[in-house]
Amino acid sequence: MVKEKKKIVILGGGFGGLYSYKSLQKEFNCKDISVTIVNRTNYFLFTPLLHEVATGSIAHHQVVESIRQLIYKSSAKLHVAEVLSIDCDKQIVKTSIAELPYDVLIMSMGATTNFFNTPGAQENSLVLKDLSDAIKLRNRFIDAFEKASEIRDKDERRQLLSFAIVGGGATGVELVAEAADLFRKTFSKYYEGLIDSSDVSLYLINRDHDILTPFHATLRKKALKTLRKMGVYVMINTAVKEVRKDSLVFINDTVLPVSHVVWTAGVKPNPSFFTHEAQYDAGGRVVVDSTLRIANYDNVFILGDMASMQGPNGKSLPMLAQVAEKQGLHTGGNIKRLFAGKKLLPFVYESQGELASLGRWHAVANLKGILFYGAFAWIIWRVIYLSKFISGSKRLKITNDWIVDAFYPRDITRS
Ligand SMILES: Cc1cc2nc3c(=O)[nH]c(=O)nc-3n(C[C@H](O)[C@H](O)[C@H](O)COP(=O)(O)OP(=O)(O)OC[C@H]3O[C@@H](n4cnc5c(N)ncnc54)[C@H](O)[C@@H]3O)c2cc1C
Repeated sequence: MVKEKKKIVILGGGFGGLYSYKSLQKEFNCKDISVTIVNRTNYFLFTPLLHEVATGSIAHHQVVESIRQLIYKSSAKLHVAEVLSIDCDKQIVKTSIAELPYDVLIMSMGATTNFFNTPGAQENSLVLKDLSDAIKLRNRFIDAFEKASEIRDKDERRQLLSFAIVGGGATGVELVAEAADLFRKTFSKYYEGLIDSSDVSLYLINRDHDILTPFHATLRKKALKTLRKMGVYVMINTAVKEVRKDSLVFINDTVLPVSHVVWTAGVKPNPSFFTHEAQYDAGGRVVVDSTLRIANYDNVFILGDMASMQGPNGKSLPMLAQVAEKQGLHTGGNIKRLFAGKKLLPFVYESQGELASLGRWHAVANLKGILFYGAFAWIIWRVIYLSKFISGSKRLKITNDWIVDAFYPRDITRS
């Protein structure tokens, strides 16, 4: 009699989902199990480079990898659909096109932008979460400069060329630095005589007392100094109360006129779609135990941004790709143990450090307590992120783009 294969369904083809797939491949060679990956797109999105797409450093197709190409040599299946509900009692996932039964479920559906109920923020801001956001942002930058180059009134031009990025975490800092580079080094050259550098204003606004707050103090100081040197107006201890079409209103009721706002102030987990009452933390992440499983269902694993697991400092693990990746790599072995009736191993997270790029040839990095900044840190930043792509061919293509990009101007054609 042919033994029926255990059905493993992975919800989310991002860092947690695809690194789980990789670990299942390693543990089982996907022979004795049937794996189905459910994702709303047919690609894996490499979020750490989205700001480079938004500023024309790399082409948008370079930050995605086809999931079908990644899995085609194995027996795994890709199901491109929206997850709609999960019945853990019946062990069935309902998607927009089918019902999928499972023996083991891995869920890693990531997070979405958190506007913290700030009035006007969702309606009047751009965001940087998905590929389409990065393309939209790039077009917005280009359109603003094209339009401004036709305007003869200086005040009108200045209003049109005012940009604010709200949120001084790694995403906001990396984006503002690349935008400053794009404006100062690329646009200034091609719009010479039409737009003066004094017409452009670029703000980074952060509620906290500093930028990059989880980073080492020395790196925070370096980053702040570098951004200010690049002409970015960094406003710290500044909370946004409202986002209007043409301005930002701060908590002390002062108004900053800006035409373009990008909201990078936070993320919240995507919904879990459980039909039962699950346990959530204050931030809406699903509480998991040390083996990344939810209460009462020992065949349901939650990873990445959706999972709330306590780290060594007593706080939930950060919503980072490096956490999701490591959790994914850990989970394949635990599923093998589960099938063998063995005790599962706890997931222990050890941070690899902190990295943030600050435009071309600048970055800050803390690798296991050793601090780097400047051009060397930027090279480290690139090498580390390159190694995180899943396929070798993508790494090669990105390297090629980066080499060309280092010597030639950014691409400023509208998509
Ligand atoms: C701009 C940006 C820059 C970042 N930079 C860094 C960085 O430099 N370093 C770092 O460590 N982290 C970084 N992060 C955070 C990192 O991207 C996340 O922590 C990581 O992706 C979490 O992995 P995940 O598997 O939980 O979710 P994801 O990687 O986001 O994957 C979730 C997947 O689920 C799919 N999905 C969601 N909902 C559904 C649904 N209902 N139905 C079907 N599919 C669904 C999504 O399409 C996606 O493919 C960055 C994030 C952003 C937005």
